[in-house]
Amino acid sequence: MSTAKKTSLELFRLRKTLMTLADKEGRGTELVSVYVPPGKQISDVINMLRDEYGTASNIKSSTTRKNVMDAIVKVQQRLKLFKEAPETGLVIFCGAIPQNGPGSERIETYVIIPPEPINIYLYRCDARFHTEHLQEMLREKETYGILLVDSSQATLATLQGRRLEIVREMTSGVPGKTRAGGQSARRYERLRDMRLQEYFSRVGRYANETFLPIENFKGLILGGPGPTKLDFEKGDYLNYMLKDKIIDTIDTSYVEEQGVKEVVEKAPEIMRKVRYIEEKKIMQQFLYEIGHDTGMVTYGEEDVRRALESGAVRTLLLSEGLDIVRATLKCNACSYQEQQTVKGQMLTSFEQSLSGKPCPKCNAPSLGIAETQDLIENFAQLAEYTNAEVEIISGETEEGQMLKNSFGGIAAILRFRAQG
Ligand SMILES: [Zn+2]
Repeated sequence: MSTAKKTSLELFRLRKTLMTLADKEGRGTELVSVYVPPGKQISDVINMLRDEYGTASNIKSSTTRKNVMDAIVKVQQRLKLFKEAPETGLVIFCGAIPQNGPGSERIETYVIIPPEPINIYLYRCDARFHTEHLQEMLREKETYGILLVDSSQATLATLQGRRLEIVREMTSGVPGKTRAGGQSARRYERLRDMRLQEYFSRVGRYANETFLPIENFKGLILGGPGPTKLDFEKGDYLNYMLKDKIIDTIDTSYVEEQGVKEVVEKAPEIMRKVRYIEEKKIMQQFLYEIGHDTGMVTYGEEDVRRALESGAVRTLLLSEGLDIVRATLKCNACSYQEQQTVKGQMLTSFEQSLSGKPCPKCNAPSLGIAETQDLIENFAQLAEYTNAEVEIISGETEEGQMLKNSFGGIAAILRFRAQG
């Protein structure tokens, strides 16, 4: 599976973990976060932690002191498992988390190897885990171009994560509109149009040179006050490949840096929109195949599982927030084992319903849940074995809602026609 295709699932997993971690709270200032960038000597990090351990011995509250010191030791132990920092670095979160009210704390440790290099060296001891740098990294993968244009000025900028760079500012040299009438006014307007077209060509050329070579270029946002940007868009000033990448056109009050900042403020919304457009496209293909009865799609847990197992799935579509669990039941009296699919919220009552139920093999009332796995994870693993792409589809689009409500949140586009 290429990295690009793996992304949606990998990011989904990491995002989910980070969301859980960000919600965790310590009783005091006792949760440790350690970021180790690639190339950093592990022994340096362990030495740094030794100093922090010394500092922690001065903490007044005995519970907090013990918890911090325990966490530091745990992190050191984990670090010792690495000869060197992985290529993308290493992040460890560790601390005493209350499980069920005060006094129920248990040390939890999370080791995360980021999907991309994390270039930050950091130790923090706080009442929460510092997940924000990883969360930022999730946003930092792609670059967006910003092009602001009106008849007097143009600004080109790039936005990667939160890093904004003004690449070029240009003035048009086009004189303002004349208010006079008559013969000379028409000549003046013709001249002005020519100058405007020259200026647009210049802006287009710089935009092509600036944005086209960028790797992971996700899209171009066109802005500026008034309708000039639309005239510019309609004309043949941008290379068609760049034109294809225009994701949004927005009104800004300014064309200079201030205008760029206006765009950046709206950027998160725009980026979400980009993903929604991707999701819509994928879903529309699925719905097309369904509508035309091509036999190249399937849906529902059982059919999709079968298709996955036979290697027939090209793209697996899963609804985000699919609350379904794959439970492995085991009999404690014999070796009997089976798997069942249960709604996440029904898991407790399902487990209760097992007590007293006879085992299908030996009849002993000894069935219990041995293991549970999120259905998304379960399917994602099956997909990985057969190089199927995985797309996690949000419920934010009409099509995404359809996947969830009409197709049980599980569907697949196939490589070859299903049998039967
Ligand atoms: Zn049994």
